[in-house]
Amino acid sequence: MHSESKNLKIYNSISGKKEDFIPVTKDHVGMYVCGPTVYSNVHLGNLRTFTSFDVIYRYLTHVGYKVRYVRNITDVGHLENDEDEGEDRISKKARIENLEPMEVVQKYTYDFHEILRKFNLLPPNIEPTATGHIIDQIKLIERIIEKGVAYEINGSVYFDVIEYSKSNNYGILSKRKLEDLIHNTRSLDGQSDKKNPQDFALWKKAEPKHIMKWASPWGEGFPGWHIECTAMSNKYLGDIFDIHGGGMDLKFPHHECEIAQSNVCFGTNAANYWVHANMLTLNGQKMSKSTGNNILPDEIFFSGSKLLSKTFSESSVKFFMLQAHYRSVLDLSNDALLASDKGFQKIIDAINNLENLKSFSEQTTFDIKKWSRNCYDAMNDDFNTPILIANIFDAVKFINKVNDGNEKLSLADSKVLAKLINSFVFDIMGLKKDKTFSGQNNKIDEVMNILLQLRNDARNNKNFDLSDKIRDLLKLKGITINDNDKDSSYTIE
Ligand code: AMP
Ligand code: ZN
Repeated sequence: MHSESKNLKIYNSISGKKEDFIPVTKDHVGMYVCGPTVYSNVHLGNLRTFTSFDVIYRYLTHVGYKVRYVRNITDVGHLENDEDEGEDRISKKARIENLEPMEVVQKYTYDFHEILRKFNLLPPNIEPTATGHIIDQIKLIERIIEKGVAYEINGSVYFDVIEYSKSNNYGILSKRKLEDLIHNTRSLDGQSDKKNPQDFALWKKAEPKHIMKWASPWGEGFPGWHIECTAMSNKYLGDIFDIHGGGMDLKFPHHECEIAQSNVCFGTNAANYWVHANMLTLNGQKMSKSTGNNILPDEIFFSGSKLLSKTFSESSVKFFMLQAHYRSVLDLSNDALLASDKGFQKIIDAINNLENLKSFSEQTTFDIKKWSRNCYDAMNDDFNTPILIANIFDAVKFINKVNDGNEKLSLADSKVLAKLINSFVFDIMGLKKDKTFSGQNNKIDEVMNILLQLRNDARNNKNFDLSDKIRDLLKLKGITINDNDKDSSYTIE
């Protein structure tokens, strides 16, 4: 174990404080992160949350923990509006697009993995699917019924929040008060079988037209969204594990309900540290699939978005995200991305300069030990990447001065500094040196603009044979030209 493993503090959403990190099992960490609901493409907001947990996973591994990182795929049970009524998001997409639900799941799971790979996020150790764990979920629901905290009605099973609250604190995480919940939850108007509106579904009876359904002791149906994560996290990480994570928007109801289920089944809050990553906003509004206020990763890396003046590499975008602390809201804008792009390039230039230094001094005029201490202190303080980055810039300044002959660095120290800086930038933050995408893409962009100009000239001269030929040849290479009234643009498959 790295000596730094002892100094880590993590902000726990339950206590609202930074706490010393003490794992359940010495030198081991069990971490569960709620994965995507695979009914559409991941957007940059989702990516921010998964990046936050990737850095946490990387840092825990870096300081020597043996981490079991479980991140699920939600492929059933997540209904519209995060509530117990409405259509299943995946079934809905399948119905609209005339696909099998498994086709929807396959398509968007593939997209999710592709994007995460491009973004250099490490895969989890276990990636369970909700549909692969129906039996585990049924067992837990039976247990909750046995304990008298859930009831069956017309083929559905609901968790009885009032019964639970007699001996537990429903609201321990979200800090919502049961009285307020009772007061504020809209009345059911005979729409639901629930005894009380704040109860939540563990199992839902499937209507005859419903496509995704399984046999259960209560008839054909499908699981509730919250029980999925309790079943999967418990199966792979046990009755009490270390870290449970997800985006801030999952605190209520999803995580509050998971905690309630876990208390009934195992007598624990499931995890000792509940960690929540804050939202990425666009124009001050939460990026979201359902509202359409979002940018897709490929638009930013590759094809371009009308909101941005250029494309950006994955590492620049990731660097932009890591310049904010994971618990702060972050607003995406063209200016902020341009600034991050420059900042990141500065770091890479300094790393290259350090590698290529030709002359060294006897001594070093930079306290590498203290600097490294500051870097670790930042990460140990609830994974404070903006402070880590500020410290990296101190090293960048020093390296550039050495390069200009204004500071001194010994050969031995240059190796120590390079090793440290590489491990912070590449191993812990997971950034990449090569600007493959935007680097290439900017060139492609320039060449494409020349081609589009020539094609427009051809069209203006009514040389449609030539303009069509350019379009068709590009199409063969997977580049589609989109003509509109004023000008043309292109998209790359
Ligand atoms: P979903 O597929 O909607 O269940 O979301 C997957 C993950 O992305 C969850 O942890 C969400 O909390 C998170 N998420 C959704 N929207 C955003 C956003 N705008 N910013 C950051 N994280 C988000
Ligand atoms: Zn979950």
